[in-house]
Amino acid sequence: MHLVGVYLHPIIMEDRELYRRILGIESPWSVASVDLQLLPKEVHIYLTHEDLPTWPCPECGTPCKLYDHQPQRQWRHLDTCQYHTILHADPPRSQCPTHGARVVKLLWAEPSSRFTALFESLAIAWLKAASQKAVGEQLGLSWDEIHGIMERAVKRGLQRRQADPVRHLGVDEKAFRKGHKYMTVVNDLTRGRVLYVAEDRKQESLDGFWGTLTEGQREGIEAVAMDMWDPYVTSVREHVADADQKIVFDKFHVAQHLSHAVDQVRRKENKALRAEGDDRLKGTRYDWLRNPATMDPEDRRAFAALRQSELKTARAWALKETGMNLYAYVYEGPARKHFQWWYGWAVRSRLAPMKEVAGMLKRRFENIITYLQHRITNATSESINAKIQWVKYTARGFRNKQNFISAIYFHCGGLDLAPATTK
Ligand SMILES: [Zn+2]
Repeated sequence: MHLVGVYLHPIIMEDRELYRRILGIESPWSVASVDLQLLPKEVHIYLTHEDLPTWPCPECGTPCKLYDHQPQRQWRHLDTCQYHTILHADPPRSQCPTHGARVVKLLWAEPSSRFTALFESLAIAWLKAASQKAVGEQLGLSWDEIHGIMERAVKRGLQRRQADPVRHLGVDEKAFRKGHKYMTVVNDLTRGRVLYVAEDRKQESLDGFWGTLTEGQREGIEAVAMDMWDPYVTSVREHVADADQKIVFDKFHVAQHLSHAVDQVRRKENKALRAEGDDRLKGTRYDWLRNPATMDPEDRRAFAALRQSELKTARAWALKETGMNLYAYVYEGPARKHFQWWYGWAVRSRLAPMKEVAGMLKRRFENIITYLQHRITNATSESINAKIQWVKYTARGFRNKQNFISAIYFHCGGLDLAPATTK
């Protein structure tokens, strides 16, 4: 059943004026008629415009003659009193000598959007706080519609981005799904925002980033924190001057490599001990990875007995802790001496995994010690990582990587996402 508003609810001049004000419709546009449909709970508002002598070209602003009108289009607007509100209009096209026939800029919507700017603003505000699914359900939008709003917002935001200096960068790899699907994320460590996201973790993944910077921005890069990952190293070397002084292998990745080596020593030793009926290392895996300062007193006492024992794992653990003391140094000279001494200890330790990791750290040392100069780690982007986790969590229904990438820019890019109108 289709109930026409005129029958149940006579539309008089005051209603049109009311809607004109609610919608913020301004000259040359006005409300021609309002059709209130009670059953689908919709208000249809028909707009019309004065006959103007000229219409500005949307491209260059030149006043042009009216060419014609597009067939009627509609835009979903903010609900009024729980009624879906839909604007209707025939958008005029201007005839520009340079750009030809173009749809003029409309007050209430961006070109090609099927939503008014106010509606998009509301959807954007909600998307910042809730999942795409929840916002879609709340606003009665399909997945494609909500995704379109997000994508347009990101595109606008990236276009508006200014060429601010980006002194400290963090390059991080993120697993997209369990398994081996990776993304490369470039963070502005100073402002805590994501600058760039790409699929995979190849050299090309990072190569794509540099072109998004101006030359001035590239010259202003002082340091780049990253994992010891050669494809990233190569990309930075090819695009940033004096890269070798600027690459800082991430402190927490160094710690991870050392912890992994300790764990390998423990596993092997545990096996050997248990074969002889010695259970001392059983169930201690996480004790060796934790910071003793965070243990409760009883655990700490038990762990102290272990780490002071003659066990190989205890030696490996001491090597790891002492190795990480590198980061406590202020000056490079003493730090280099410390490392040399530590390296000698590690290679004589007769613990194969420790020897191996020591060799790797020695080969990479020049870009580990750069930390003392720049003092950056990817942990600076911890808040970004937490947000990306949230995006991942709320994105369980996401269909593809591209949507995930848009969502990272949307939530973590620090972008100005608001729709532009001519108002
Ligand atoms: Zn033009």
